[in-house]
Amino acid sequence: MKLSSPVGVVPKIGPKYKKLLENLEIGTVQDLLYHFPFRYDDYSNVKNIGDLLENEVATVKGMVESVTNIFTRNGKRLTKIVVNDGTEKIGLMFFNQHYLKTTIKTGKEYTVSGKVGTFDRKISFISPELEESREVNINTGRLVPVYPETYGVTSRWLRARINDVVLGEIELGEFLPENTIKKHGLSTFNWSLKQIHFPDTEINAEKAKIRFQFEELFLELLKVEKRRVQWDSKLKSTGMTIKDTQIAHFIASLPFKLTDSQEKSVGEIMKDLAQKHPMNRLLEGDVGTGKTLVALIAAYNTHLNGFKTLYMAPTEILAAQHYETFNRFLSPLGVKISLITGSTKPEKDDFDILIGTHALIYSKEKFKGVELVVIDEQHRFGVEQRGKILEMANDGTVPHLLAMTATPIPRTLALTIYGDLSISVLDTHPNKERKVSTKVIPENARDRAYQWIKQKNEPTFIVCPLIEESDALMLENVKAAEAEYAALKKTYFKDVEMGLLHGRMKPKEKEEVIEKFRKGKIKVLVSTPVIEVGIDVPEATVMVIESAERYGLASLHQLRGRVGRGSKEGFCLTFLSTQSKNAYARLKNLETVDNGMELAEIDMRARGQGDIFGAIQHGFKKFKIADMFNVKMLEKAKEEAKEIYPFLDYYPLLKERLTQEAGEYIPNN
Ligand code: ADP
Ligand code: MG
Repeated sequence: MKLSSPVGVVPKIGPKYKKLLENLEIGTVQDLLYHFPFRYDDYSNVKNIGDLLENEVATVKGMVESVTNIFTRNGKRLTKIVVNDGTEKIGLMFFNQHYLKTTIKTGKEYTVSGKVGTFDRKISFISPELEESREVNINTGRLVPVYPETYGVTSRWLRARINDVVLGEIELGEFLPENTIKKHGLSTFNWSLKQIHFPDTEINAEKAKIRFQFEELFLELLKVEKRRVQWDSKLKSTGMTIKDTQIAHFIASLPFKLTDSQEKSVGEIMKDLAQKHPMNRLLEGDVGTGKTLVALIAAYNTHLNGFKTLYMAPTEILAAQHYETFNRFLSPLGVKISLITGSTKPEKDDFDILIGTHALIYSKEKFKGVELVVIDEQHRFGVEQRGKILEMANDGTVPHLLAMTATPIPRTLALTIYGDLSISVLDTHPNKERKVSTKVIPENARDRAYQWIKQKNEPTFIVCPLIEESDALMLENVKAAEAEYAALKKTYFKDVEMGLLHGRMKPKEKEEVIEKFRKGKIKVLVSTPVIEVGIDVPEATVMVIESAERYGLASLHQLRGRVGRGSKEGFCLTFLSTQSKNAYARLKNLETVDNGMELAEIDMRARGQGDIFGAIQHGFKKFKIADMFNVKMLEKAKEEAKEIYPFLDYYPLLKERLTQEAGEYIPNN
């Protein structure tokens, strides 16, 4: 049996189970073995029946004396099994499992594990784990693994199948380099496999877990290493000159001073642009830290070198907004800016900077002379789209790439998924006093909150519940916004200018509404959560967020970043559509923490990685067991990957393992 064999080669896994296992994404023997338990039930407390205490979790071993099926007066079907270990007897009670009568053999020795309860005022086990005593038991009397399950596939069933494989002969043994194992004090493959599923002690389970965590990070980072090396060595680009004088002039002419981190980032980008291999840099910065300007300076330098820039924005509104910004700053310097969206076309090649949406990369035209590509809100774009941009290469060279994101990506995560990127961080806000006071408002204070908003009489966003992030349910979001708009217009804001903004409106309609809002003709703007990624209305000061518990804290932080961008203090009022104390406590963090990264990590701890990062990147695989926030391990794995990668050919087993997985992620470039 090979790890790569289809899981059907495992005894007792026929077509029916094969199909069911697909729900757990188990297709191969390896997938089955890497279906790790998420906890262990500790049944290692083995006792005599006579010594059992109520409420303790314990294991006893004894002879089954009788199995009796009982129908109670109110129609319940019980089964009572009596076990005797020579010190005492105990009853095991089961519900709706009359079949036990035929499967449990009286006169045989069984092992029973579970919590000791009472039945009919006598000490009993209620629905315990039960199996015939063997030399080694897998469901009782030890640390027993509990797995993620699916319909028809129980932990008990998984234990038996996995145990068969672990005890049997698996062809592939250790595939990590011996030295790697030694250097990092890792436990070996076969030992770890056994101990992670059927650990002898908790310490062993932990050791095994560490091995698989390291292994997963190491493999992932080897792939990252591969991408990096490809990027560095194979791809060529046109090195630009850094036009120091003109750039300095331009910066001096700005109505504000660059922040320290903007200056630093510009420096890093310029250095990259001068290289003869393409820049591959991620610019990470909270909402409002001024990423656009940094990109704009890079685009200006590109223009001064006689080359073109493509700037890709996630939505038409943002594209239009950037178009305006670029025009404002750069057209006085003779730079030609063009806009391409689903509805507008550029005038042929006649541009220096072309701003657009996805339409940009799906356009049939090959733009000549493009040497810089900027992708705004990078997390919205998949790996595939990034690859697509690279295909726009001119005459054998690849454009420099600058990706930008406001999503706080903890450094450690950036190191892995974006490990082939360099990173610049904008961590200072231009407006140091910028502050958004946030309050979690209880439902009974809603009235007062609306009165306060009316009194304040400043531009206000009301963000309606996020029903679902997927497109299919976008209509639901629209409905929610429309309903809220109608309700408020009839009641609290009867005499206030209101507007409605949602994703189903035509770009032109949206633009009109935003324009009115900007000019103060609309005071209260009810919106779907689309505004998250970026409308710049510096005058907006108040934001109301409904059903705030449906968002991650980092998303809420991004949302509230839309207000208080001007000179006035911003206010964010969040409402919940649940009574949950946990939700309330989670949201309370917004009142005190003003740092997207920190909020992301609070959420990460509270809700698990999936929720937060699910949205970051399609094409990014979630870790099975590794903890991406374990910086120490990540750095070790990174170092190890760097060291081993150049010598991969010396480790055929490792290489084989890597190629097996490679198909999924390594983009062909
Ligand atoms: P984001 O990082 O969210 O994309 P923007 O680039 O949209 O932020 O910038 C937000 C606002 O801050 C814009 O109005 C921009 O003109 C302004 N801005 C950018 N840099 C500075 C600065 N150094 N000082 C003052 N305002 C700035
Ligand atoms: Mg932006």
